[in-house]
Amino acid sequence: MNALAATNRNFMKAARILGLDSKIEKSLLIPFREIKVECTIPKDDGTLVSYVGFRVQHDNARGPMKGGIRYHPEVDPDEVNALAQLMTWKTAVADIPYGGAKGGIGCSPKDLSTSELERLTRVFTQKIHDLIGVNADVPAPDMGTNAQTMAWILDEYSKFHGYSPAVVTGKPIDLGGSLGREAATGRGVVYATEALLAEHGKSIKGLTFAIQGFGNVGSWAARLIHERGGKVVAVSDITGAVKNPNGINILDLLQHKDATGKLADFSGADAMDPNDLLTHDCDVLIPCALGGVLNRENAGDVKAKFIIEAANHPTDPEADEILSKKGVTILPDIYANAGGVTVSYFEWVQNIQGFMWDEEKVNQELKRYMTRAFHNIKGLCKSHNCDLRMGAFTLGVNRVARATLLRGWEA
Ligand code: GLU
Repeated sequence: MNALAATNRNFMKAARILGLDSKIEKSLLIPFREIKVECTIPKDDGTLVSYVGFRVQHDNARGPMKGGIRYHPEVDPDEVNALAQLMTWKTAVADIPYGGAKGGIGCSPKDLSTSELERLTRVFTQKIHDLIGVNADVPAPDMGTNAQTMAWILDEYSKFHGYSPAVVTGKPIDLGGSLGREAATGRGVVYATEALLAEHGKSIKGLTFAIQGFGNVGSWAARLIHERGGKVVAVSDITGAVKNPNGINILDLLQHKDATGKLADFSGADAMDPNDLLTHDCDVLIPCALGGVLNRENAGDVKAKFIIEAANHPTDPEADEILSKKGVTILPDIYANAGGVTVSYFEWVQNIQGFMWDEEKVNQELKRYMTRAFHNIKGLCKSHNCDLRMGAFTLGVNRVARATLLRGWEA
C-alpha cells in the first residue's frame, strides 16, 4: 500500500472513531493546495538539467502550514501528499499553532555539488516564494536537506520580500536558528521513548535498542540513548550495518563515521546485513530512515517489544496489524518524531520575538511538550479504547476538526 493510501486509511479510521461529519472528513482529506514546479539549473559542466519540485500545503485551520523539504530520488507527489497530511496531525498532536505541509525535489543530493544544490534550492524558492511566508507556510529541513539549504531559501526569499528569518526554521544559528534544533528530532524521540517506557515500568538504562538510519535523527537518538545507559546493539544506514550484543560505543561509532563516511570496518562492532536490522534481537526498535520499511514481509519476524517510529510512516497498515497481534507496542510517527517541528516552533517564536533562548530552555520546553502530548494521547486511547496510533490520530484530527468548525464554512 503506498504512503498516501496508508495515511488516508489511518485518517478515515480516526474520523470514524470520532464520528466526524462527512463534509468535515472530505475537507480534511483534500489538501489545501498542491504545487508542482519545474526547476532547471545549469550543472557545473554547463549542461542543463531539469528537476521537479513539489510543495503540498495540506491544511491551515490551526495556523501557518509547516513542514520539511526533502531532496531524495524517491520524492513523488503521493509521498509528499501523505507527508504533508501527517504534518497536519503531527503539529496538532504536539499542540503547536500550525497546519501541515511538505515539499520535495526528486533528486539525488549526494550526486550534486554544493553549488549545484545552491542553484537548485534558489530556483525552487523563486518558484514558490509567493506561496510560503512567516504566516503562510514555513519550510524546514528533512531528508537530504539541512541548515545550509534553509539559509539559501531564506536568502532567496529575502530578495523578494525583505529579510525575514522566520520564513524557514532549522536555519544555521548565525542566521537566527535555535540552539538545540539540530538534535531536536532525535532528542524528542528519546523523550517520547522515556514517556512510553515509564508507562510500562521500564527505563532506557539496561534495555537493548536497534536503530535503522544513522543520519541526523538516528545518530542523535543513538547518542542520547547511549548517554542514558541504553545498549544500542545494532545500527544501520545506507552504507551498511554493525552489531554488538554488548552495546556499541556510539561516540566511537560517530567518530568512525565522521572519519570514513561509513559504518563498515568499525572496530567496536561486527558487520551485519542491513536487511536484518529490523528483525534483530532487541527490546526497542527505532526505524529512523524511509517509509514503508515494516511490511507484511518482515513484520512477523520482528523481535522487539516496542517500536518507536522516528521515521515518517515506517509501518504500513498490514505490518501494523501483524505487530499488534504479536503484542508489539508502536509509538506512532506523528507523535514520536514531533520533536523536530516542536523546536522549529520554538525557533519561529524566538525569531518573531527577537529573543534567543538558551539550549537548556529549549530542551526543557521540548520535554514538556513531548510528555504532555504523550499523556493527551493516552487519554484518547482510554476513551476510545484504541492503540497509540489511533490515540494520536484521533487527538490530532479532532483538534484540526474543531479549529475548522470554529472558523466556519460561510464563504
Ligand atoms: N521535517 C521534519 C518533520 O518531518 C521537521 C519539520 C519542521 O520542522 O517543520 O517533522
